[in-house]
Amino acid sequence: MHLVFLGPPASGKGTLSQLLAEKFELIPVSTGVMLRQHLAEETELGLKASKYLSSSRLVPDEIVNGMLSDWFDQNQESNWILDGFPRTLSQARWLTDELAKRSITLDAAVSLEVSYDELLRRIGRRVQCDQCGLTTALDLVENGLHCPECDGTLRPRIDDAEERFKKRYQDFTDETVPVIEYYAERGDLTKVVAEGNPTEVCAMVERSLSAESQ
Ligand code: AMP
Repeated sequence: MHLVFLGPPASGKGTLSQLLAEKFELIPVSTGVMLRQHLAEETELGLKASKYLSSSRLVPDEIVNGMLSDWFDQNQESNWILDGFPRTLSQARWLTDELAKRSITLDAAVSLEVSYDELLRRIGRRVQCDQCGLTTALDLVENGLHCPECDGTLRPRIDDAEERFKKRYQDFTDETVPVIEYYAERGDLTKVVAEGNPTEVCAMVERSLSAESQ
C-alpha cells in the first residue's frame, strides 16, 4: 500500500500515519521529521534547509525531492505513508513522475479536514519530544513533561506559536490546497473529517480506503 496524507498543520497527519502504519505494516515517512533529523545531525542537506526550517518556510523542492528520492532508493519494495509531502503542486507532479519511473502505484491521497478553530485549539496543547521527535497532546501524557516513548523532555513546538502557525496555515491554503485539487482531478482523493479522537479518525480512514478499493 502507498498512501499520501494531506492536511493543514495539526490536522493529525503524523499521529494517524503512525496508527495506520502499525496496523498495516507501512513505513510512515514524514519529510518534516527527516528534515529536522538532518538539521540535528548537521548534514549538508540539514544546513541547506536550516534557514527555511527556522522560519517555518517551505524548503525548496529540489532539496525535499532529492531527499525523498534517496529514501525511495534505500527503501525499494516497501509500503509507505507520506506525511507532509507533497506540499506543492510541483512536488505532486514530481511524485507522480517519480512513482511512474519506479513502477509504484499510489493507492490514495487522504485529505484530513479539520476546522480552523479546532486546529488552533490543538496547537495550544501540542508538545514534541526534544529527543525522538514524538508529537503528542499534553493532556494525553500521564507523566508530566516526559516523553512516553524515550523519556526525553516534551516542549511546545516553536512553529506552533500562533503567528508561525498562521503562516504555515497560509502556506497550506496557497500551496497545498491545489495539491488536494490535483489528486481530486486524478480520481485519487479520499476526504475524511478528522475532528474526532485519533482512534475514531483512523477507523474512518480505514473505512474510506476500503470503500475506495471496492
Ligand atoms: P512538518 O513537521 O510536516 O510540519 O514540517 C516542518 C517543516 O519542514 C515545514 O515548516 C517546512 O519548513 C519543512 N517541510 C516539511 N515537509 C516539506 C515539504 N514537503 N516541502 C517543503 N518543506 C517541507
